[in-house]
Amino acid sequence: ASVAAEPDAVSSTLKNVKHVVLVLSGKGGVGKSTVSVQIALSLVAAGHKVGLLDVDLCGPSIPTMLHLQNHKVHQCPQGWVPVFADQEQRLSVMSIAFLLDRQDDPVVWRGPKKTAMIKQFLADVYWGELDYLIVDTPPGTSDEHISMVENLRKVSPDGAVLVTTPQAVSTNDVKKELNFCIKAHLPILGIVENMSGFVCPHCAECSNVFSSKGGELLAAEFKVPFLGRVPLDPLLTQSLESGQSFVALYPESATRTAIDAIVKPL
Ligand code: ADP
Repeated sequence: ASVAAEPDAVSSTLKNVKHVVLVLSGKGGVGKSTVSVQIALSLVAAGHKVGLLDVDLCGPSIPTMLHLQNHKVHQCPQGWVPVFADQEQRLSVMSIAFLLDRQDDPVVWRGPKKTAMIKQFLADVYWGELDYLIVDTPPGTSDEHISMVENLRKVSPDGAVLVTTPQAVSTNDVKKELNFCIKAHLPILGIVENMSGFVCPHCAECSNVFSSKGGELLAAEFKVPFLGRVPLDPLLTQSLESGQSFVALYPESATRTAIDAIVKPL
């Protein structure tokens, strides 16, 4: 690993990146990484060149979701070279998992080391030209988030997409995220309600497993855009576990349409 970079290095590394979008959630397990991956794949399908940065240092799941578990990043004179997730090289990925000797090794670092790693992730990855950089953050609002926002300030990120499940235990935590964004002057691009209803594969009827509309009500309360809802879809889970692109496998599905609609305003 190279020496921690100066904040200005972030601006020069990301100077050819048109849009920077952060994905946040109040809790773990609400589908933040799933939504990040699906947003990235949907943007790629729309013809964009996309980078996906997994900043979830303690629980990196993006390499697994894209079946890139055994990949390693290499160094070039400009920094770390991200891993391409597709043959056309339109989706490049960087994750802490690519730097670990063994993928199952835990990352047990204290705050300062995590902060230094985030700076490096933002300053030392050679993305080249990108239309979008999607940043999957750890759950909650921690040191890592503050460090990320500070390091990105000069780049003026487009803003944050907040992911929640519809029920109050999750939406309550998203309120903290919303307040964090407001305090940190990070624009809020909108709220996504994930696991919003279950579409039965047998009868196609949608049941609201959790209470419904939590994300939408929260968006109205905070006067931020509601980007849409993604149903709990067994085919989506399957595609994530098999590492096959859901976008490619089920181009006609309602879930895919929902994800495309979320991506439109970004
Ligand atoms: P987080 O990043 O918030 O911790 P993940 O994206 O890792 O959450 O999702 C947790 C689990 O839920 C994963 O196994 C994922 O496959 C599954 N999952 C997330 N969203 C959906 C969905 N809309 N439909 C089906 N499974 C989902």
